[in-house]
Amino acid sequence: MVIEIKELTSAEVGKICVPLISFNPERCLSCGSKTGIVQRFFLLNVPATEEFHKQIKKELRNKFGLSYYALCQDNDKVVTTAKCSECDDEKMHWDY
Ligand SMILES: [Zn+2]
Repeated sequence: MVIEIKELTSAEVGKICVPLISFNPERCLSCGSKTGIVQRFFLLNVPATEEFHKQIKKELRNKFGLSYYALCQDNDKVVTTAKCSECDDEKMHWDY
């Protein structure tokens, strides 16, 4: 199975997975910054389940340089990521 990942705009996400729009990285767990966190959205060709987890991570890293993603409960083919522009870390405190 080849994993395909396509970046979505927040407008596109709003059409397929509304709850994800308000699920945002609030604070960087590494440096504590609350500003300058860049959130991105991606559409997968497979569900983001345990079965595909490693492949998704690998593809995200290769294509977009990202290591962590959060899931959307309403649509398991959409994931979101965050990166802190202050310290470049991707581990965030997420909240609705
Ligand atoms: Zn940070």
